Order: sequence, then structure tokens, then C-alpha cells
Amino acid sequence: MILFLIINYHTSTLAGIYIHIPFCKQACNYCNFYFSTSLGNKDKFIQSLLREIELSNGYLQGEKIETLYLGGGTPSQLTIGDLKLLLEKLQSVYDLSSVQEFTIETNPDDLTEEKIKELSELKKYGLNRFSIGVQSFFDEDLKYMNRAHNAEEAIASIKRVQNAGFENITIDLIYGTPTMNDEYWKKNLDIAFELNVPHISSYALTVEPKTSLDKKILKGESKPVDEEQSARQFKMLMDEMRGHNFEQYEISNFARDKKHAIHNSNYWFGKKYLGLGPSAHSFNGVSRRWNVSNNINYINSLEKNELNFEEEILTEAQKVNEKIMISLRTMWGFSITNYELRITNEIQRSLQQIDAAHYTFENGILRLTDEGKFFADKIAATLFIDEVE
Ligand code: SF4
Repeated sequence: MILFLIINYHTSTLAGIYIHIPFCKQACNYCNFYFSTSLGNKDKFIQSLLREIELSNGYLQGEKIETLYLGGGTPSQLTIGDLKLLLEKLQSVYDLSSVQEFTIETNPDDLTEEKIKELSELKKYGLNRFSIGVQSFFDEDLKYMNRAHNAEEAIASIKRVQNAGFENITIDLIYGTPTMNDEYWKKNLDIAFELNVPHISSYALTVEPKTSLDKKILKGESKPVDEEQSARQFKMLMDEMRGHNFEQYEISNFARDKKHAIHNSNYWFGKKYLGLGPSAHSFNGVSRRWNVSNNINYINSLEKNELNFEEEILTEAQKVNEKIMISLRTMWGFSITNYELRITNEIQRSLQQIDAAHYTFENGILRLTDEGKFFADKIAATLFIDEVE
């Protein structure tokens, strides 16, 4: 019996599906995701997405689906009719009977009583998790970031989603905004705790090249981001979360009562996933591929029944280095015991270059300390292994 269970476990890994909805009401000035603020091509996009679902059928090699994630862009920009069409098609192509977590990303300004009532109809397809793009509970920060909602809408939307019976809610919060001093960052966190959400994703505001925020800062029209402030507020974030029984299971992700995001955790564990929609990425254990980041090109290809993506077959070193990069960010850490001696020796040699206060190494598992989390990317890069000729 035990042998049967073990074999069964190893032969039936589950996979995830991510769908990128490339529309937003308004462009947040820091954003470098792919989206359009025009809904002009929406109907053609939906038809193309339905076609892509059919054409990508073989990518996950018949695996059952464990998680569904509607992200973007802003999926709550679609109508309930669009969303149902999409889910009906998915159901006709994939076995969704094992879906444990179905998340929809939303923005507070979309979450009216009426919209939430409509979205509640998606419970029959398994919808059980809302991700709400709050970013801040203060208008000054929201204006700085050119968000489409205000603070009042942020709070009201969370309460409405809770009142509709969805307990599994995650909110995004951004720190390091020049308009937000430490006192207001603490207030932001206190409001989130009072609202009793079980999951928070929190990121430092980063100024990506060529974004409108980058251009405004260069022209002196917006205040620049202060890295010291960001580092201080990241420390506050970790301390406050710990004090409120939230587990930092990934550098930017915190959950209480084990409400970890299953979909995202599966990315970090290296499970397979299929990404649909413009700019979406997919991974099937061997290759990584990414769809064209352009609505018109995406639609034109699918109208000819062609998928439009680029693909990369991962080398052994790329697989190891991705694993180092991703798993070091998690509380589960990076296990060096799963690799051949040449690789473990190389990693252990590199480890000697890293400040001992930045990591722990127990039973072959490397984990970052709080101090090390400030340097996660640099530490990962130091541990990367070389390609074998
Ligand atoms: S709503 Fe999200 S995806 Fe859209 S512009 Fe803002 S940050 Fe980017």
C-alpha cells in the first residue's frame, strides 16, 4: 500500500494554468507588465484566447490542473460573460476536477457590489481566492503611483469581497514610495491587519527603465525613490508581519494560518504551468516559453491558428541556477543534496564568499537570514554554477 502511494505520488504531479488578461483601466506609472488601456480589441482577444486554449492542449501532457490564476493586466476589466466563456472553454479542454485554488486578480475600483455579485457566479468553476491590488491605503501614495482607485475604495472593496463569502484574499502593498514615511507605512500595515486578510504580497517600489515614473523622475517631476527608506521599510515589514503571526514564506509573500498561495508556491517548487494570453510564460520541466507581448500580433497569429511564442530549452546549469535564484527566496530554502557531487562542490566553494550572517546551512539546506534577505539576488548570483562545456 505504501509503495503504491509513493508511485502514485510521483506519476501524477499536478500543474497550473495562468491566463494573462492584458487590459487595464489606467496605466500605473511604475508598471512594466504588458497591458493596454484600450478595450478596442477585447472581443478579438477573447476569441484568440479561446483558440489558444485549444491549440495549447498538449503542452501539459495531460496533467490534471491544480491551480488556476487569472492575472494581468486586470482580469476584473472583463465582463462576466467573457470570463464564463473562457472558463467553459478551459473546462472543455482540461480536467479541472482537481483544482484546489482559483485566483482572480482585481483592482479596488472594479469591485463594486454588482461586480462582486457577478464574480461570485464563478464559484461554480472553483473561484475561491481574490487578489486585490491595493498598494496603499493612503491617497497621496496612490496618486504618486497613478493608481485608478482611492484609499476609501481600497478598504471598501476588501470588505465587500469578504461579505460575499471569500475568505481567501490576498492584497498587494507597495513600500518605499517617496510620499510614504515610516509612520504611514506602519499605518498601512495596521489597516491591513485590522481588515483581517490572511495573505499579503509586499514589494518595494522599483523604478524600471522607460516607465513613465522613470521619465518623470528624470525630468524632476516626481520625487526619486530612496533605497535607504525602502530597506528600512522592508525591515519594518518583516518585523510587523512576524508580530502578527504571518509567515514570510517567500521574500515578498506573507501568510497566516497556512494560507500560502498554492499557484505561486508551485512555481517556486518547479512544477509545470501553462501560461495563456500575450506575454504569458510557460514551463513544462524541459523548456520555458513566452508568448508575444503584443495584443495585435497575438490576435493576428491566432486568427491563423498559430501560436506565437519563443522557446528556450534549459541547460543543466540554467535549471540549477533558476532553482538557486527562486528557492533561496523561500522559507524552504535551497537543498544542495539533490545534485551530483561536481555541482554541490562548486556551490559549497562559492558559499565561502558569502557573509556567514546572511545564511544558515543545515542538513544540506541553505536558507537566508533576515539580514541575507536584503541581498538575495546578489547571494544567488554568487552561487550560480558555470555551464559545462
Ligand atoms: S493595474 Fe497592475 S498591470 Fe495594470 S498598469 Fe497597474 S500595476 Fe500594471
